[in-house]
Amino acid sequence: MKTFEQLGVSEEIRRAIEELGFEQPMPVQKEVIPYLLGNKNDVIALAQTGTGKTAAYGLPVLQKTDAEAKTTQAVILSPTRELCLQIADDLNAFAKYIHGLHIVPVYGGADIVPQIRQLKKGVQVIVATPGRLIDLINRGVAQLDNVRNIVLDEADEMLNMGFSESINAIFEQLPEDHNTLLFSATMSKEIEKIAQQYLHDYKEIVVGSRNEGAEHVNHIYYLVHSKDKYLALKRIVDYYPRIFAIIFCRTKLETQEIADKLIKDGYNAEALHGDLSQQQRDLTMQKFRQHTVQFLVATDVAARGLDVEDLTHVINYGLPDDIESYTHRSGRTGRAGKKGTSISIIHTKEKWKVRQIEKQIGKEFVDGTLPTPEEICKKQLYKTMDDIMKTDIDEEQIAPYMDDINRQFEYLDKEDLIKKMVAVTFGKFLEYYKNAPVIEKPTGKRSDRKDEKGDRKGRVSSGRRSHEAEAGYRRLFINLGKTDGFYPGEIMQFLNHHIHGSKQEVGHIDLLQKFCYIEVPEGDAEKVMNAINGATYKGREVRCNDADEGGHGRSARPKAGAERRIARKEARKGDNGSRGKQARHGREKESWRDLIKDKPFKLKGEIPDFSEEGWARRRPKKK
Ligand code: AMP
Repeated sequence: MKTFEQLGVSEEIRRAIEELGFEQPMPVQKEVIPYLLGNKNDVIALAQTGTGKTAAYGLPVLQKTDAEAKTTQAVILSPTRELCLQIADDLNAFAKYIHGLHIVPVYGGADIVPQIRQLKKGVQVIVATPGRLIDLINRGVAQLDNVRNIVLDEADEMLNMGFSESINAIFEQLPEDHNTLLFSATMSKEIEKIAQQYLHDYKEIVVGSRNEGAEHVNHIYYLVHSKDKYLALKRIVDYYPRIFAIIFCRTKLETQEIADKLIKDGYNAEALHGDLSQQQRDLTMQKFRQHTVQFLVATDVAARGLDVEDLTHVINYGLPDDIESYTHRSGRTGRAGKKGTSISIIHTKEKWKVRQIEKQIGKEFVDGTLPTPEEICKKQLYKTMDDIMKTDIDEEQIAPYMDDINRQFEYLDKEDLIKKMVAVTFGKFLEYYKNAPVIEKPTGKRSDRKDEKGDRKGRVSSGRRSHEAEAGYRRLFINLGKTDGFYPGEIMQFLNHHIHGSKQEVGHIDLLQKFCYIEVPEGDAEKVMNAINGATYKGREVRCNDADEGGHGRSARPKAGAERRIARKEARKGDNGSRGKQARHGREKESWRDLIKDKPFKLKGEIPDFSEEGWARRRPKKK
């Protein structure tokens, strides 16, 4: 096994990385470092975050930079501000003993003035997000005519984020004679295109196989109904008391919602997404890195490329649309030779994606069964006992209180004391899981698939047969409908405007011409009714009441018969809405029953032939 010295790494850099605990070069470093230390060598390296790629390009780039010259000699492009800061931190650590070498991160969303000030002092290495670098070039502050090395880190993500034009503009500023180093977790057509456009005689280095998932990561999926996703998440995180994880969500809204719910339920979680201010994001990342936050609930973009040590799990709260994102997500764990687990909480409709990912990463997912409440409680109990056993006692510190403590517990025997102690730390769990609802695994049958259709949040119903609310939800009537322009987006806005303090969760929405039904969690129903009853929407007074309680707010809610009539009228109007279809369907069924009511045959499990010939055959023959 070659050492860093044998790879050609300079003494001053070796000193710094030894202090960081780098003993042996990692595979990508063994391949990339000696090659980049040579001259005129372009490279395209397929390596995930966590493989040591920052040092793979960072060490040779720093070594080849002349610290005496005050010109910019290297540019490292990264897709996000967080990654940009992380790379700059890493490079600064590697360059600790190279005197006079200045590495500066510049990124969008932050005040440009301090960045200009720093660049004006003379900077040899700029780590930048593409948009901000262009801004600085346009202001004449960043000058790239002496750049010898340009690195595109997480190149695939930069392209996904639409930075290709900015990248082109940056390349136009570079001198002819420069090296291009392209690092990407996956090889896509777009990456190949960039490679052809900007790289010359490049060497392609693949760590592991192309597009392979991280080697040390296990992949598990849990199949649940969508309505049970959050409950399943809680079971999973409760089952791993020492979990330290990123929970990936698909949208900013979902990210914030899940983080809020977890916090409300007493978990140590924080959200990371683009709608938060830079300051909030920095603070969250700082807390997460220091392990003072246990769960980072994040969007793909916000958490892209982040190197957080010791993540035990990555949790996919639903699968991402593209396989590349899954590769990036799961690559956050199982780093530096450690084991990690990527858990996906999915519903039946996402199962095909699992198969696709399996094919791509060449690994099989385990079809997981959610832990039972008993199993979870046992795990938590062991953790509590373990914590007690491992707690060091500072005798000196506790001594002044011992008399009081002994007096207080004088009449308790050891067993009772232990029980009470465990109940204090563990009681919350026992209480919650005593009445924990059953989470059923979908069978994949039609009824389940129908459930999935209806389980999405804020979704407009395509015509449910039953008017019953989903378990845990209450169905509310509101006297506003399509004619009022009261569509799902408006409904959500209206609710959130009138219900202060939190975002209202909404299940099914049945939207009709003149009114609508919404489903809200049982516990929120009264709050919602109180908040919007009597409010005005576009000049109309709003009435909202429990759809199943005919008496309440009767004046606002059409009676069952009237409701049917309105629905039929809508169907006749040719309303393409689902409810119209439902009403038509209802009518057909009624007339079908009428048709067979008094007919001289009985249904025996087979469907009768209603064609002309069928009727003719069944018509009693005249003698
Ligand atoms: P990266 O893929 O650059 O995000 O690196 C992943 C992690 O591995 C970082 O925390 C690095 O500090 C660490 N690392 C990189 N190279 C080595 C090495 N040769 N030995 C030990 N740790 C390393």
